[in-house]
Formats: sequence, C-alpha cells, structure tokens
Amino acid sequence: MIQVIPLGGVGEIGKNMWCVRSPEGIIVLDCGFAFPTEEMYGVDLVLPDYKYLVENADLVRGVFISHGHEDHIGGLPYFLKRVPVPVYATPLTIGLIQGKLQEHNVKVPLHCMNARDRVTVGDMDIEFIQVCHSIADAVAIAVHTPTGTVLYTGDFKFDPTPIDNRPTDYFKLTELGEKGLLLLMSDSTNVTKKGFTPSEAAVAPALDAAFAQAPGRLIITTFASNIHRVQQILNAAARHGRKVALMGRSMLKVTQIAHDLGYLKYDDDLILDVDKVEQMPPEQVVMLATGSQGEPMAALSRLATMEYKGVSVTAGDTVLISAIPIPGNERSVGRIINSLVDKGANVLYESVQQGTHVSGHGSEEELKAMIAMTRPKFFIPMHGESRHLAKHAALARSMGVPEDNIAVCQNGDVVELDGETIKIVDRVPGGPVLVDGNVLWDVGQTLLKDRQRLARDGVATTVVTVDGNLDVLQGPDIVTRGFIDSADSQLILDEGKRRVVEVIDAAKARGTKDPEKLKGQIVETLSRYFGERTRRRPVQLVVIHQIKAEVETPG
Ligand SMILES: [Zn+2]
Ligand SMILES: [Zn+2]
Repeated sequence: MIQVIPLGGVGEIGKNMWCVRSPEGIIVLDCGFAFPTEEMYGVDLVLPDYKYLVENADLVRGVFISHGHEDHIGGLPYFLKRVPVPVYATPLTIGLIQGKLQEHNVKVPLHCMNARDRVTVGDMDIEFIQVCHSIADAVAIAVHTPTGTVLYTGDFKFDPTPIDNRPTDYFKLTELGEKGLLLLMSDSTNVTKKGFTPSEAAVAPALDAAFAQAPGRLIITTFASNIHRVQQILNAAARHGRKVALMGRSMLKVTQIAHDLGYLKYDDDLILDVDKVEQMPPEQVVMLATGSQGEPMAALSRLATMEYKGVSVTAGDTVLISAIPIPGNERSVGRIINSLVDKGANVLYESVQQGTHVSGHGSEEELKAMIAMTRPKFFIPMHGESRHLAKHAALARSMGVPEDNIAVCQNGDVVELDGETIKIVDRVPGGPVLVDGNVLWDVGQTLLKDRQRLARDGVATTVVTVDGNLDVLQGPDIVTRGFIDSADSQLILDEGKRRVVEVIDAAKARGTKDPEKLKGQIVETLSRYFGERTRRRPVQLVVIHQIKAEVETPG
C-alpha cells in the first residue's frame, strides 16, 4: 500500500510539491513556490503548506526535483530549513539550487543524477527519465515501490527536434507501460490546447526575421532559465553579426551556470559588456534582458522607465518579447510595453503569433500520447487549475482509463493505492503559506484582510482622553490616511467627533466604564457614519486614554 499526497500544484499552476509514502518512508517530489496574486499586499511569495512533512520529518528520505523552474525548486530553502534532507536532481538543476541554498545559508547533501540513473531509498527505487521542457535537463520521475510504479511526469512536451538533441525518452516511457504502470501523474497545463505544441526549433525563423528587420539595436527578453531559447538567440546573434549584452541578475547568473556546465555553447567574444553598448554601432548590438513578465525591478522594466547601467531605450530600438505573460502578469507586461512604445521603440510582443515563442508544455495530443505509451492503471492529473484537471481526467477516460481509477485531487488530499483501488482517505494541511519578508504565516486571513481594507478604504485613528467618570478631558481627534480628501472632509470629521462624544456621554449615563466596550461602540458608530457619508469603511484604530481621578485625601 502506498499514499500519494499533493501539498501544492493541483487546483493551481505553481508551488508544486508531492509526497509518495511507502511503508518505509516518504520521498518528496519537487518543492516550488508560487507568485502572490495582486490582492496579496506585501506578500513576497507563496509556499506549499508542508506541516505534514515537518510532523513526519523522521520518515522523510529526500527531495527529488524534476527541473529548475521556480514553481518546482523555489520552496526548497524554506522547506530544507525545517526538514534538512538530501536533494536529488540533474546537473543543471543542482547548479540552480546551489545558488538558492547559499543565499539562504542552507546546507544539505546535493546528489547529482542524470537521466536513466536510479537510486534506492528505503523500499523505493527512484529513476530519472529525460523529458523536453522550456528549461534544459528536465526529467520525469519514476518511483518503483513494492505496490507498483508511480510515474510523475514533471513538466513536459514531446519535442521531436530539441535544441540540445536530447529528446523525451520515449523508450523508457513505453517500457514502463509494457512492464505495467500503477499510477501516472501528468502535467495538465496545456490540456485545453489542441494538437501538438510546436518544437522549440520552430522559433528560429522568426528570430532570424526579427534580427534581419531590426534597423538599430535589438532588445530581446525571455526567461533566463529558458536555456534553449537563450541558445537560439545567441546563435542568431552570431549569424547576424551582433554582439550580445546580458542584462539582469538572473540572466547573468543562469547563463554563467549553464555555460560552465556545458548546457549553453557560445564563443566568449560574442558577449559584450553592458558599459560598451553605447559605443557600438546600433545594428551590431543585441541586448538580452530579464523582465519578460513585467517585473518592476528587472532589466527590461528599468530600460523602459529609466535606465539600466547607463543604457536606456530610444527611438529606433526594436524590442522583442520572446515569452508570454504568465496568467496574472498581463497588466504589468502591458504597462512596460506602453512605456517602451512611449519612448519610440518598435515593440514586437505578440510572440506566439510572430512565432518567436512556443510553450514548454505538451498539448492535447502529447498528453494523449503520454497515456498511450505508459498505459497506467490509475491516473491523477496535476500541474493545473481545476478546469485543466477536469479536462485531463476526461481525456484519460476517453482513452480507456476507468472513471473509478482516476483521482482528481485538491492540495492536502491523501490518496491511497493498494494495487486494486485508488481512494482519497484523509486530508492533511494543504493551504497556501505566505512569505512576508522573513516571516511565514498561514492564510489566517486577518492580516491579509486588513491590508486589503487599508489599500481600498484607508485608515482612521480616533484619540480621546477621559477621566475616571468618562468626562472628556481632551479630543476627540480623528486623523485619517488614504480615506477622505475632499473639501467637506473637515465637516465629515467634525461630525464624526461629535458622534464620538455622544457615544461617550451615553456610556457615562448608563454607568458603563469599561474602556474596551467603549472602544467597540466608537468603532461601530464611526463605521456606520463613515459608511453612510463616504461609502468607505476604513480600518479604525481607537485609543482611549483614561486618567484616573485623584484620590481625595480624607479631611
Ligand atoms: Zn516548468
Ligand atoms: Zn511547472
């Protein structure tokens, strides 16, 4: 009997983290983070809730990573601080993880595994299987257990002409099917896209066209981790006689790691120092910048709004966005495109239409092919929002996987397989954990709700000083921020103060002297009044200073 538990990555695209529990222990598959949504004010990133693993820390044998994207490795430093266990990954992924762990001063054993390598951990045998994706060195992970084999695809596409000539390992996948696969957990990201996802090689002609047509400087932005895309841009630069300036921290870091490990191949003299850019003839320059998602501090955003190390965008520049916005980032990308256009640049951003971007996730026919090759007895769709999971489950049914053999789960579901059935038998914590600076908090909501109200309605502070008999000695004063700022705001506040005095007088008449109760009544009264007058309900802070009456000296 085994259990499979998603702690993140179902019902959402982001923060992937799965557990496989056998009688002898637990292994973890991936440990990512998600980016906060726009209404998560002040939140830096979102982690899976791994309380279950902290509580069972003595059973956790290691973390196996499918590839180096943030939604698969970003949570590692936080998790490993609580549960320090070895990490197993392919060389490039290890390279990317190393930097992350150093930044957080986390030390655990890192084990390099290549595709087709196997490692035994307790009663489980884990095997890496090459897959294609929008980052080099991605693998699917097969977990051989006494109950049967579980295949976790990671993120994949079936690219027949990959840039690094390392295609998805069709043979291994088919072999798993031939031997009898117990469970397939498969990437659902592009299940709503018909047909096949085009090969990464398909962007080459469009890149060539952009290089040929740009009259002056060319600025290209893409994910730094998309090593194959970066390789193609470097190749195109060499073909068109342009030098490449790398811009942005992650672009410099990732290209360095990938170059050192041999995943990225270029001549050193192809690279141009950023401070030489302005001295070069414009038609001999290409700048390769981070910021394809509109991140405000990334190189592209700085080029668009001010400058990046002395370089800024000018009329005659061509900007090519070789990526599409992750859902949720459309507005920030739109803002940057507007700033670039305002500066006179020609911006090519419909990257899918122009053929300068292809997805790293397989479309419907590839997802079908995965099921056909591996012929799983049981199926769990993963890496998708609810609509993707439902569609992927339907796809599996249409290919003959019986309804009862498919589990569509939520984060925190404990899925049990005994070889004959698949059942959700229990729940463990599976909600998001928010990282705010160095503090981790559950979505206990009050903090987040206060911030949302502060942003929407502002804040009002009421201060009043009374004596032991509730006679007002000073105030009340009402100070507001981000709440009202109009000609009649003083009138509104004056009326507010009058009502506060009314509340205090009424309390005095009733003989209530409990300041906490009084505070509540003031908040309630002002909230109703502000609501009527301004349709806003600001966050309220009420401070009552009570000065005890002097004790009379007996005469
Ligand atoms: Zn990925
Ligand atoms: Zn992913």
